[in-house]
Amino acid sequence: MVGDSVRFRDDLHLLPGYQAGKRPQPDGASGEVYSLASNEIPYGPLPGVLDAMTNRAAHSHRYPDPASVELVAALAARHDVSVDQIALGTGSVAICQQVVAAACHVGDEVVFAWRSFEAYPIVTRLVGAVPVQVPNAPDHSHDLAAMRRAITERTKVVFLCTPNNPTGPLIPQAELVGFLNDVPSNVLVVVDEAYHEFAVASGPAPDGVALTGEHSNVLALRTFSKAYGLAGLRVGYGVASEQIVAALRRTALPFGVNSVAAAAGVASLKQQAEMERRVAEVVAERERVLAVARERVEVPQSAANFYWLPLGERAAEFAERCEEVGVTVRAFPGEGVRVSVGEPIANERVLRVLADFG
Ligand SMILES: *Cc1c(COP(=O)(O)O)cnc(C)c1O
Repeated sequence: MVGDSVRFRDDLHLLPGYQAGKRPQPDGASGEVYSLASNEIPYGPLPGVLDAMTNRAAHSHRYPDPASVELVAALAARHDVSVDQIALGTGSVAICQQVVAAACHVGDEVVFAWRSFEAYPIVTRLVGAVPVQVPNAPDHSHDLAAMRRAITERTKVVFLCTPNNPTGPLIPQAELVGFLNDVPSNVLVVVDEAYHEFAVASGPAPDGVALTGEHSNVLALRTFSKAYGLAGLRVGYGVASEQIVAALRRTALPFGVNSVAAAAGVASLKQQAEMERRVAEVVAERERVLAVARERVEVPQSAANFYWLPLGERAAEFAERCEEVGVTVRAFPGEGVRVSVGEPIANERVLRVLADFG
């Protein structure tokens, strides 16, 4: 029949929509184009991982093991927890969605810092919950005191992002523990540690996974996308109490994590030393780059594989200049630019743009 159009939710327009980092478009004219827009590590999969993927890919006509038993067991062993304390997801961003879906009714509140990871407002709105965005402190770190004050009877979930994407600072362990001791134990606190491996290589770093042992309301998130170099495969995980993990499994899509990604995860975990070597290389390069960048602009300390240039109104213009020299970066117009630490030649191009930038 012809007539009325289909009916969507009337709050659909509130979903912000994820602004992905730009994919580089080699145009031949400017030579190779580098992506410093999505916080990927500039290396391929770890040694042995491609073979594991290829072997598993030969069985692609079969559904994956719905529980990804092998990967879950490897992660449980790695973190010294039970297999019922590990939740897998198609990237840890999926687990962000699952946790809000599991905890929130329409109108419930989700507290997080802002600016922080762009997925938080999306997954919050998706279920009709209300994002409560707490501005970062002047040094671009989480304002934990203000976040604590923002927690009300309606708060079901708090997201903490450490190190914070896109600004870089981490939450020191003592402050994290103080916050957790202060938050009502019926509020679920997600400690998003997507960049944990870089934080550990940068100095003293909090350990959300360890804190799940003492706090039954804490969910620590880790991912294979960043330090392990598997962003294209979509696999991440959470560590928490069995109660939280059971809730996450209820809100997961069946067969979400595919068999090739699971095999890659297992193989990657066997390459801890090489992963750490690569991460150390990125962290050393970050410090070199930051030292130069700071001659031009105040850059907050980063414990991750990216840094934040607080360029305000000139953020979009800076990103355009970078693109002209064959590097994509992530601009947040009116606020700043997030630049991933990548190949030295790409990092150099950004520094050159910064040096010439009025
Ligand atoms: C990259 C990132 C993630 C997760 O990415 P996935 O690829 O979905 O695992 C989660 N949180 C933050 C803050 C990130 O930057």
